[in-house]
Amino acid sequence: MNQEVGGRSRKRKRRNNHRKIETPSIKQNATAAAAANSTVKKELPSTSTVSKSSTKPSSFLEKMKAKLSGGHFRMINEKLYTCSGDEALNYFKEDPSLFNMYHTGYQEQMSRWPEQPVNIIMKWLKDRSSSLVVADFGCGDARLAKGVKNKVFSIDLVSKDPSVIACDMSNTPLDSSSIDVAVFCLSLMGTNFPNYLEEANRVLKPSGWLLIAEVKSRFDPNTGGADPDSFCQAVCELGFTSASKDFSNKMFVLLYFKKKPKNNSNKEIKWPELKPCLYKRR
Ligand code: SAH
Repeated sequence: MNQEVGGRSRKRKRRNNHRKIETPSIKQNATAAAAANSTVKKELPSTSTVSKSSTKPSSFLEKMKAKLSGGHFRMINEKLYTCSGDEALNYFKEDPSLFNMYHTGYQEQMSRWPEQPVNIIMKWLKDRSSSLVVADFGCGDARLAKGVKNKVFSIDLVSKDPSVIACDMSNTPLDSSSIDVAVFCLSLMGTNFPNYLEEANRVLKPSGWLLIAEVKSRFDPNTGGADPDSFCQAVCELGFTSASKDFSNKMFVLLYFKKKPKNNSNKEIKWPELKPCLYKRR
């Protein structure tokens, strides 16, 4: 009896481990999205199971739909991390419904995180003057704008809300030196992410803030991530000083920079590569 209980709990433990959000190697995941269909097939219950569960027909359908939409999410996510911003813009222009698909999956993933970085950024803003003008680069559902009193320019590839400016964030319609706080919350996705930071540098006022929240594994050299110091050094060479770094959260890092009042350097910047953040099939 005890053994059986132990066996069950071991099984549950194994299942839970699989549920853990991770950002493992590309190799592990490259096949994940493509395998979505075969997975569904594999996990179809046997006929007898179907008839057993026929009292609850919707739960099987719901599970199947969730698996399919998880597969779509992972494919779009991988695409966004492996193409440039203008390619991503064209991708969503061709089919804007992919954006909803992406964000349904994204919210699903986020709901498992004990803490959401956007909430920490909101709190940071609330502790300061609401007169600070903010640009939220890669705003998603524009939660930041909805949660603070500040004027927020919300920018994303697709505008689901009239307040969101739809563009590639390497080329925004914002005026130069017009913004006090530039935010990148889990949005440094494109292969040309340095262009996004250059754009933030352009629109920020001198001494303006640059806040970056990124998935921790992207800055973990032990698992193929970038060296956070090399990344910070590159941002500083762009024209910032590092104000603080917060590595206390298990899932993400928070980097705070201030734009230098003057930057005359034209030095070529060596940006580290930021590996894609791929999600495990669950
Ligand atoms: N900042 C939000 C959403 C993060 S998801 C939050 O924390 O909840 C990342 C977002 O960045 C997605 O909505 C994606 O469409 C956007 N994004 C990625 N590349 C972009 C680009 N080149 N230009 C504009 N938005 C981009």
